Amino acid sequence: MITIKQRLIREHNRAYKLWMRLLWRCYGMESPLVFMAHGFKMSIGECKNAFELSRDSFERFISFLVDEGWRALSQDELFRMVQKRQWRKKCFHLTFDDTYDTVFTEAYPILKRYGIPFTMFVTKDLVDKAGYITMEHLKLLAKDPLCSIGGHGLQHLVFRNLSDEEMREQCVGGKRWLEQELGVDVKTFAFPYGRVVEVSNSNRKMIRKMGFKMAFSAIEGSVRACWWTGRWFLPRVNVSETFVEKFTQGKRLLYKDCEGR
Ligand SMILES: [Zn+2]
Repeated sequence: MITIKQRLIREHNRAYKLWMRLLWRCYGMESPLVFMAHGFKMSIGECKNAFELSRDSFERFISFLVDEGWRALSQDELFRMVQKRQWRKKCFHLTFDDTYDTVFTEAYPILKRYGIPFTMFVTKDLVDKAGYITMEHLKLLAKDPLCSIGGHGLQHLVFRNLSDEEMREQCVGGKRWLEQELGVDVKTFAFPYGRVVEVSNSNRKMIRKMGFKMAFSAIEGSVRACWWTGRWFLPRVNVSETFVEKFTQGKRLLYKDCEGR
């Protein structure tokens, strides 16, 4: 049985999600989208949930974006747009959470071929675990100017359940570890799980003071909503099989907004 507090958090999550969707519909393609992907499978039949995508669908998605004139933004370009709130049509930044090894083996060759910049949000404890990226592959990615490295915690925890000190350790400790191991500057963070259910107002306030330029949620929306979310809980768009199918067929209301350009 869930408590009244848990029920209220769920209702807050639901209302937040609807509000982000409403704003996204209002903005259409007038601002960049930050796409979020996880791991890759060899065929559509192997994809069991919305966080798995087949290699072929990913390639179709990327080639569609390129063919339709979408501009790929680096993390720094996205930051400048968000900071200045100077929006451009049809541009995107690509992010990968949890860093499955298939990002390196399947997605990276495609991204290299098209010259698409991207961010890897890395959880320390998942590196070198079965199915997740090896340190060897992560170091190779970190050396590529196309790749930015972002934090995703020391472990993959629900931040709402953490004390302030524990949260600081997850964020700042993870950032330091990545910077030492990879020799890169870690400027961004993605909240593990990333919904209002798992990330409290207090978590969102705290992340501002931890030396990141931007932080991301897993709530669907457009980054133009930053006037509401701030720079530390920016919405993203999950790239699932269903999303790729609808998006590449122009079925989304949002996509219709940029027809006849
Ligand atoms: Zn995650």
